[in-house]
Order: sequence, then C-alpha cells, then structure tokens
Amino acid sequence: MKSQSLGLRNLKSGKTLQALIFSIMLFMQIGCVKQMGQHPCAVNECYGQDVWQQAIDHIASHNFPEEQYIGKVYSDRLNNAWTTDDNKVNISEDLLTKLIHMGDAYILSVSAHEISHIRSHHYSLKASLSQVSLLGSLDSDHFSRQKKKHEAEARLSRKHELEADKLAVQYMEKAGYHRKDYLKFLKWMEKNLKDASPSELATHPRIKERIARVEEPTSFLISRGPSHE
Ligand SMILES: [Zn+2]
Repeated sequence: MKSQSLGLRNLKSGKTLQALIFSIMLFMQIGCVKQMGQHPCAVNECYGQDVWQQAIDHIASHNFPEEQYIGKVYSDRLNNAWTTDDNKVNISEDLLTKLIHMGDAYILSVSAHEISHIRSHHYSLKASLSQVSLLGSLDSDHFSRQKKKHEAEARLSRKHELEADKLAVQYMEKAGYHRKDYLKFLKWMEKNLKDASPSELATHPRIKERIARVEEPTSFLISRGPSHE
C-alpha cells in the first residue's frame, strides 16, 4: 500500500516535471517570437527604412501591381527577415544595413524571397500544421508526438524555403534582374551569415542546397527529386 502510494506520487511528480518542462519550452518559444517582434522602428528611427520599402515596391510593381506590401524594419540585433500573412515584409536593421552595403540586387533578393512566402501563404500553412491541442494529456507518448510534430513543421518549412527561392528568381527576373543576382545573394549569405545545421528540426535547408537548386533547378526535378518532402 505504501509503495503503491509512493509510486502514485512518483507518477504524479513525473507528470508535474513533464508539465513544467513543457511550460518552459512554450515560454521560450513565445519569448523568441517576442524578441523578434519587439522593437519595430518608428518613422525615420532606423537606417534604410525608405530603401527597404522601395525594394519591396520595386518587386511588387513589376509582379503584382495591384498588391501593396508594407516594409517594416525592426531594431533587432539578429540578421533576420520574416513575414506574416498581413502583407508585412519585415527585416532587422542589422541585416538591412549589410544588404544596403552590398547593393540593390541584394536588398531586392531578400524582399523577393519574403514576398514569395506571402504569395504562397507559407505562414498560414505552417500555422495550420501547428494547430494541435496544447491541452492534450501529458502521457508517455506526449513528447514523441511533440517531436514528430516539430519535425513535420521543420520539413514543411524547408520545403517552403526552396519554393520561395524558386519564386524569388522569377520575381527578380520580372523586375529586371537575373538568376545570377539571386545566386550572388545566396553565396554572400553562405559566406557571411550563420548557416542552418542539418537536422530533422532545421527550419531552413543548407544554403549549399539552396544554391545548387537555384543553379540547376531542372536537374533536381528530373533526376534527384526534392529531398525535403
Ligand atoms: Zn524564407
């Protein structure tokens, strides 16, 4: 009887520990989102806000003249660009400063890539995959289910990145630039920004793979097939 109740207590404390770890993970995820979106620059506060909007307008006017996209600069220290489905194309001031230093084609490449995510509804597709109940029981299968879910999200995200590169090249070409301009940007990124480490949970493919696909898009379709699906 004694050992039984002790066992029950252990089971309970095990569950409490699992719940605690899960809450910390959730808090950290929310923390990341907050960190990313915490400091939108006020008008004329950050370097290059006008240049960023001009780049977005240039890609949009040559591809979707009926649409309007809003460029937002964040005073983040991260080298990051991201988007949501509300036609906002976001970038950190740090990354934008580096791109401005490199030249127009680099700024346009990033804006074309981000607009591709919006046009393809990648954000909402990812969000819909995340809509699983957070209130499910914390049984022994809970974490393996969570792991599988995160792997599926990461796999989808890697697929979206390759799709966005492919579309971005088309947008660049319509805006008077070339595939080689986009390639130069990817190669610059490979040299200067931190690459994704290859793992089942990586949200981005290796830049090397992205370069290879943009360089030889047809060979992947015919002989190798997409490796991230
Ligand atoms: Zn992307």
